[in-house]
Amino acid sequence: MCDVCSEAITNPICPFCLTTEIEAWLTLYPHLRKDLLKKIHEYLNNISNIITTYGTTCIKCNEKRAHVCTYCFTDFVYRELMKLPSGKFVMNEFLEFFDFDFDHTGYSENKNEEVSL
Ligand SMILES: [Zn+2]
Ligand SMILES: [Zn+2]
Repeated sequence: MCDVCSEAITNPICPFCLTTEIEAWLTLYPHLRKDLLKKIHEYLNNISNIITTYGTTCIKCNEKRAHVCTYCFTDFVYRELMKLPSGKFVMNEFLEFFDFDFDHTGYSENKNEEVSL
């Protein structure tokens, strides 16, 4: 379950793995990179301090720590982006890149069920 919205995590990619992808994307925007990554790392520090016994195993790094869902995490990053002078183009691109509807991915839904506890 997600610590923020209490919804079941259906696509368990942990915020740490997502950050790696966001970092890669931000190389295009050096003027935003430093400020945004600072915020993200603060956030990650906070959630690292939560000792979890019910974390979901991340499908990317196999660590048991995906306890903030991709939706809540990208929502947080989006809101931080909004505070920065990022502009409409960057905001739209972020939404395009990190739109976690997962329509275009081949993750198996069944695979996640056995790790949901
Ligand atoms: Zn959530
Ligand atoms: Zn991960």
